[in-house]
Amino acid sequence: MPATVVLGTQWGDEGKGKAVDYLADRMDFVVRYQGGNNAGHTIIAEGRLLKLNLVPSGVLYPHITNVIADGVVVDPRILLGELDELEASDVQIGELRLSLNAHLIMPYHRELDKVAERFLGKNALNTTRRGIGPAYADRAARVGIRVQDLYDEKIFSAKLEVALKDKNQILAKIYNRLAMQPEQIFEDYLAFAERLRPYVTDTSKLLYEGLAAGKHVMLEGAQGTMLDLDHGTYPFVTSSTPVAGYAAASAGFGPRDIERVIGVTKAYVTRVGSGPLPTEDIGPAGERLGERGHEFGTVTGRKRRCGWFDACVLRFAARVNGLTDIVLTKLDVLSGFEKLPVCVGYRAGGQTWDDVPPNQTLFHEAEPVWEELPGWQDEIREVESFDDLPKEAQRYVRFLEEIGGVPVSIVGVGPVREQSLVAS
Ligand code: GDP
Repeated sequence: MPATVVLGTQWGDEGKGKAVDYLADRMDFVVRYQGGNNAGHTIIAEGRLLKLNLVPSGVLYPHITNVIADGVVVDPRILLGELDELEASDVQIGELRLSLNAHLIMPYHRELDKVAERFLGKNALNTTRRGIGPAYADRAARVGIRVQDLYDEKIFSAKLEVALKDKNQILAKIYNRLAMQPEQIFEDYLAFAERLRPYVTDTSKLLYEGLAAGKHVMLEGAQGTMLDLDHGTYPFVTSSTPVAGYAAASAGFGPRDIERVIGVTKAYVTRVGSGPLPTEDIGPAGERLGERGHEFGTVTGRKRRCGWFDACVLRFAARVNGLTDIVLTKLDVLSGFEKLPVCVGYRAGGQTWDDVPPNQTLFHEAEPVWEELPGWQDEIREVESFDDLPKEAQRYVRFLEEIGGVPVSIVGVGPVREQSLVAS
């Protein structure tokens, strides 16, 4: 049976949580494939508001098995906290499975994230300081600790010792911090392991068998294409790989099972922190987008930079992910603007580009080529079908489809699950 990938096509915060929640209805598995608790999904459904960082967005459906796959870095304290919160909110939740191979975020990762950011001063990456980057760095350096290690005390203790030997040197000698002691960490993590035991499994096999038995699998990305470690605006990127190609690698089945790649795309753009954002509007219109769209980070509360729709970014996302269709979110935020500028190309390095330029210097100097579409005045949150949208709003959507070269399947007109209109 086919698998579907759902990912962000911009700089994250496109509204993936709501999109996955909306689409999850027909799924049997929802799999989170990268990132850690630096992501924040907001789901409003069944009269509840849920803010999730780590638990996959299919959690509100009791029939769904939610999987945290190999490529996710897991802070067990956070995961258990989220599970407690879900239990306390008496939401009837689906099952959860955690990969034996997922890497753990350790207390020294959080500490290193904080001190390294401070040390970088004005060159700081503005990370969420939750230890995600250092945990991925240890994974690549082969000194990471994985979920399965917690269930063999001898191995866990040996690996922890090796890791701390190195980390304590760095903390003390470079950052002038106190060394960390293994005993407390060891005890805490063994306690987490006991609580996590019922969820831990070979998720690759679970999903493989699920697909073979005709089950539907949705692979959910965090952050967005422009923040991809390889394809994004390095170094202002995340430390993992949101693009579609990584979804199967992390989940542990072959790419041939992926049939649909849905790009969640906001009707304008936002970005948190530093790095290029060619269509940024630093005037009152940008301010208005931010206010109407509540553009403040779910995880950090940081104000997001706002700008107009950028077709170069969409075409780039279509190229690197192989998008089959788009869920266009937050169209309602655009109500009340007289004109809606859309970036249809860039000028940079003495030439024009219809896609993201291949190097950083060019992207930094990219000047948008604008087209202007007429706006609409009415609020559209109550609209129940695509054909009932103001004709300017319909035209806006069709224009984005045309210049992006990818069909729009669903349009979001509000944060609630039902505020989703089928567009094709
Ligand atoms: P994610 O990380 O991609 O899931 O995005 P966030 O959850 O950080 O941000 C998306 C925000 O937009 C959340 O507060 C959602 O409730 C909200 N949202 C999602 N879709 C829509 C929509 O179509 N209209 C409006 N107004 N809000 C939306």
